[in-house]
Amino acid sequence: MPDSSSSNNDLMAANLEAIRQRIDQAATGSGRRGDQVTLVGVCKYIGTEMTGQLLAAGCHQLGENRPQQLWEKAGQLEGRGVEWHMIGHLQRNKVRRTLPLISRLHSGDSLRLLQAVNEQASRLGHPLPVLLEVNVSGDQAKHGFQPDQMPGVLEQVSTLEFLDVDGLMTMASLAGGEDQARRDFSSLRELRDHLRGACPENVRLDHLSMGMSGDFEVAIEEGATLVRVGSALFEGIDIQGRTGD
Ligand SMILES: *Cc1c(COP(=O)(O)O)cnc(C)c1O
Repeated sequence: MPDSSSSNNDLMAANLEAIRQRIDQAATGSGRRGDQVTLVGVCKYIGTEMTGQLLAAGCHQLGENRPQQLWEKAGQLEGRGVEWHMIGHLQRNKVRRTLPLISRLHSGDSLRLLQAVNEQASRLGHPLPVLLEVNVSGDQAKHGFQPDQMPGVLEQVSTLEFLDVDGLMTMASLAGGEDQARRDFSSLRELRDHLRGACPENVRLDHLSMGMSGDFEVAIEEGATLVRVGSALFEGIDIQGRTGD
């Protein structure tokens, strides 16, 4: 009888390989190279042991949307070369514990949070790569800045010396399917191009973090440099009902 953990392992490695190929194809199809798009493997659906298997399969950029889960896994997988991405809403009272663990914050979604992150990064003594989350779909339930706030937000974050603000992030509308997702992604790219025209000197907008399992190819076609893919990595694997939120 096959041992389920080793067959899960094989499946996850095969899923990872297939996703990397799809990333490559979408990138080359739109005039870029596959290595210009970074896959962030979202491990919010799985426990630490399977996360370790994902890591062993070669996925070192890992994303969590909940700080507590990130703390737990970062502790248990310490020393194994993970670069952690915080991709979900971060409460200010969790900044102190989260910051030393992460290599990038995708979800810079309020000035109060960004000020707290800046303060903690200054205590740690090095700037943190941060993306500003923009609510391009206008969905009330979503976190993030409104597009028309962004010129002012860029001015304000440019004074926060320990933030390395280098891009934007968005979540596509849940409803509307691929066409709506494409509109949301192209809105983020157009906003970025527009903002670049009058960007404070120490703010770069090189990165666009957009696209998940259902729409990462569309996102790459629209300019994504970071895609956050979870469920497609675990297709065919029993992940025991964890939903991730
Ligand atoms: C869960 C999550 C993802 C990944 O979603 P999948 O559809 O499972 O690929 C990406 N980004 C954020 C912010 C998430 O919370």
